[in-house]
Amino acid sequence: MKKTALVLGAGGFIGSHLVKRLKSEGFVVRGVDLKYPEYSKTKADEFIIGDLRDQAVCRKILDKQFDEVYQLAADMGGAEYIFTGENDANVMHNSALINLNIAGLAYKFKVGKLFYSSSACIYPKYNQMDPENPKCSEDSAYPAFPDSEYGWEKLFSERLYLSFLRNFHLNVKIARFHNIFGPEGTYQGGKEKAPAAICRKVALCKDGGTIDIWGDGKQTRSFLFIDECLDGVRRLMDSGFSGPFNIGSEEMISINDLAKMVINISGKSLNIRNIEGPEGVRGRNSDNKLIRETLNWEPKVPLRIGIEKTYEWISHQLAI
Ligand code: NAD
Repeated sequence: MKKTALVLGAGGFIGSHLVKRLKSEGFVVRGVDLKYPEYSKTKADEFIIGDLRDQAVCRKILDKQFDEVYQLAADMGGAEYIFTGENDANVMHNSALINLNIAGLAYKFKVGKLFYSSSACIYPKYNQMDPENPKCSEDSAYPAFPDSEYGWEKLFSERLYLSFLRNFHLNVKIARFHNIFGPEGTYQGGKEKAPAAICRKVALCKDGGTIDIWGDGKQTRSFLFIDECLDGVRRLMDSGFSGPFNIGSEEMISINDLAKMVINISGKSLNIRNIEGPEGVRGRNSDNKLIRETLNWEPKVPLRIGIEKTYEWISHQLAI
């Protein structure tokens, strides 16, 4: 018998790639989202358009026993969406409702395993003030002090799922993603993240021109290519561990250096202008000690390889 998977948020960036991965591994997949994937046709066997804030919808989509459920649906976006404060109420309310519905029903409907996508945004601001030396080991999450309501909701939902594990033996697996990027991700409209936004700016800029970068550009981050993120997710799902585990890259880079990398890939000669804008914490990097030692896995592909593929995809999108 083929294994069955339910992917929530299957119309989103990571969800649509995950559906492809699960299909290539032989799963029968049901996807659910408010929308279809934007950039290619879904590979799911069945795709249901539905609002997961509605418990009646959640009951309907969990009408059979799934071997694996992947809960990726969330009201989220890049810095412009999360850090301006304008979307705080929606981010907290919408994502918490989805997770409350799914946690409550997953154990009632006897789901085999449930994956929850948390985020590096749960880590305390006070450990991420030094761009050269941020601390993001899994055990540094407490005392909690995320720098956004998005991070607080993720932390709440981690605890929600872990309490269902403790009290009702729901087989939960939690990853804290660190800036996942790649082709077929949002690259315009306000919800895009730094790699896609920079690729778009560079692709649209004429040779000799200038691109704007938010903040002083010295803030640091690490970025993980989508294929490697999915390797980590599948490795975690097949393991006997619940986490939370960081799934991210340890190749930290400043935002100005990321911009220089994209400019170099484009072959253009461009200037960088640092302007005021939402930028989040000063430094953030994945700490892969726990996942390396527990799951014997960590990402390997250099950042530049993933950025090359992403730049190519975004410049192609802008040309058509
Ligand atoms: P995304 O926004 O592309 O995908 C999320 C999907 O959830 C969207 O397609 C959206 O339509 C759907 N959704 C939102 N509200 C819904 C609702 N009420 N009912 C049904 N569907 C709904 O984001 P992504 O980058 O693919 O991220 C997937 C998950 O991973 C999210 O939970 C996100 O918080 C988490 N995460 C992502 C990153 C990253 O760098 N991309 C980093 C950390 C954590």
